Amino acid sequence: MGRKLHKIFGLWWEISIGIDFSDIFGPYCPNCFVELKEFADGYRCENCNREIKHPENILIGSQLANKAIEKYKADIRSRYEKISLDEPPTAVKVRDQDDKYFLAAKIGQKDGRRVGVVYFGEKNKEQSKEDYSQIFIDLDDEQLRFDKSNKHPKEILANFNVTFKDTSVEQKFSSNFEVRG
Ligand SMILES: [Zn+2]
Repeated sequence: MGRKLHKIFGLWWEISIGIDFSDIFGPYCPNCFVELKEFADGYRCENCNREIKHPENILIGSQLANKAIEKYKADIRSRYEKISLDEPPTAVKVRDQDDKYFLAAKIGQKDGRRVGVVYFGEKNKEQSKEDYSQIFIDLDDEQLRFDKSNKHPKEILANFNVTFKDTSVEQKFSSNFEVRG
């Protein structure tokens, strides 16, 4: 990677950072890039005599130079790939209902795995865990499971079919189930 100069606070610097170090060189003359030197009346390039007036100390170790490092680090960080573990990058949420039933489905992440959850049940004024079913769909392992603390899906559905990338799972419940609606 070629070396670069960065202009920060109107001055040219060379900054490099690693995991646990940061180095800063400069500031350099904006005209010929020789390192600026401090004189009684300000800063000056000894090569081309360009003068720099600055109200603050601008040399390495100054507050301004340290702020330049932080600004540089923030710029590097802003280019990183950002991965949020709070909000999965692909979140699917759907919801449907009629007068009597509701269904909601979402795809997200749980413990680093892609998991789909389908909730469905009868609409009650006071919804409790026993009033609806939940089917957890493990997209990575292509497996299904129910939550025993909820209503069993067989009390609501006659059958269902989940198609994964490589397999499909069909679940048929009681043959004397009366399909409603
Ligand atoms: Zn110069």
